[in-house]
Amino acid sequence: MPTSTIDIKTYPLYLDGQWIDFDEHIEVTNPATGQVFARIAKLNRKDVATAIDHAQKAFMSWRKVTGKQRSDYLNAIANQLALRTEEIAQTITKENGKPLPQSRGEVNMMIDHYHWFAGEARRIYGRMVPHQVEGKRHLILKSPVGVVGAISPWNFPVVLATRKLAPALAAGCTVLLKPASATPLSSVLLAECIEAAGVPRGVFQLIAGSAQDIGAEFMENPLCRKVSFTGSTAVGKNLIEQSARTVTAISMELGGNAPMLVFGDADLDRAVAGAIIAKFRNTGQSCVAANRIYVQRNIYDQFLAKFLTDAKSLKVGSGLEPDVEIGPLIDDQAIELALELIADAQACGAKVLYGGHRIEGPGNFLAPTVLADVPPTAKCMNCEIFAPIAPICPFDDEAEGILHANATEYGLAAYVYTNDLARALRLSEELDAGTIGLNDAVPAVSTSPFGGCKESGLGRELGTEGIEPYLETKHISIGGVD
Ligand code: NAP
Repeated sequence: MPTSTIDIKTYPLYLDGQWIDFDEHIEVTNPATGQVFARIAKLNRKDVATAIDHAQKAFMSWRKVTGKQRSDYLNAIANQLALRTEEIAQTITKENGKPLPQSRGEVNMMIDHYHWFAGEARRIYGRMVPHQVEGKRHLILKSPVGVVGAISPWNFPVVLATRKLAPALAAGCTVLLKPASATPLSSVLLAECIEAAGVPRGVFQLIAGSAQDIGAEFMENPLCRKVSFTGSTAVGKNLIEQSARTVTAISMELGGNAPMLVFGDADLDRAVAGAIIAKFRNTGQSCVAANRIYVQRNIYDQFLAKFLTDAKSLKVGSGLEPDVEIGPLIDDQAIELALELIADAQACGAKVLYGGHRIEGPGNFLAPTVLADVPPTAKCMNCEIFAPIAPICPFDDEAEGILHANATEYGLAAYVYTNDLARALRLSEELDAGTIGLNDAVPAVSTSPFGGCKESGLGRELGTEGIEPYLETKHISIGGVD
């Protein structure tokens, strides 16, 4: 489709309190139509260094703002976002493709994150520890780490950026946000809300450009003290290597390959409903998507039949259309990868019970796909699928289920459906995952920590843990207290 037939809006970047356009731009495509509909300014590495200088200058005064005042700013950001929920949700759907109700859900969760960290800004406690030598006292203080570089992915464009921005701002850090090139526009609206909330200039800046250059400048510039990244394990490993050269502090939220174990004693309807949500939410493009579904053999056929019926009822289409539950994949390459995984599973002996093909026409649509009897050797059981493909296979007992579940280098999330309390507690202890959904398909919430074990990451976001990565701990040893 020629891009000249639609009006392409240009978005500037938000730098040191000003909206600035640049000569070069990144084009943004609607994955439901394949059309470029907007573009955003692209800066170069020198401009990133300048933005870091501004952030450092702003840090000198932002760090002195009281926790109460920073809390007020965060609540004000949340209030600005609430006023523009529908506009932000529509923008997410246009650039990312997800169904509009899911975009609204993302905005609401983002707002809740700002309110949560507004509370945390007022609870950055130090402590006094008992002295063991007469005449001394020991004070433990928490200080903001400094300038933070935040890099976010396209699958939940604003909520994942917020899991970095909100705690960093609450802690007294200043932040540069680099959103994914596929989905930068919702972050522009977020930046507008931060500006409207009156956050001082330079405290938050929005940048876009070459990911390699921005990542390298974040890591090599001595003024940037912390890099918080959400994205693929491959890019995360590259950034971890870079951080070693400058000992830059890092937080890493990386890929997943979540297992779901459904036991014979589970509530079958609840388990099927949960599997549909955990698999197909965000069109399967979620780091916590149920990547592999293991069902105990005595209920395997019943589960498959119900799951198949529900999968067949999912409406596929543009996320802006009513009742759509499966939107487009992010780009053409994602479709190609998904089709390769389906072909490989079939070659390994899996049965395609439903879907398995691209939906012809404009946009990147894959039919929701149900694969049965998928062997552990199939590629889709060993990588992050990131598409609406549900591989299902049977297991016999708890020990075998746990072995399957943990047979991955990832450890972000796991799901268990059972009505046996003792089993639920055993599995909570034995599954290698940062988040476990027990009879729950949507476990992430502002109040509880989120993050990965093994190659799924380093550190935790959200919960009371979420602000810690943006704080340094200092010991003040005081003598002469006679
Ligand atoms: P990605 O390709 O790793 O990109 C993520 C971000 O990193 C984007 O902003 C990207 O910029 C940037 N980037 C790419 N190469 C870079 C480099 N060399 N240096 C610095 N930054 C670089 O991941 P994605 O495809 O956007 O997102 C999907 C992945 O994110 C999946 O693996 C998913 O599991 C993971 N994820 C994890 C979590 C979690 O909380 N653990 C949450 C959501 C997603 P450009 O867009 O400009 O390339």
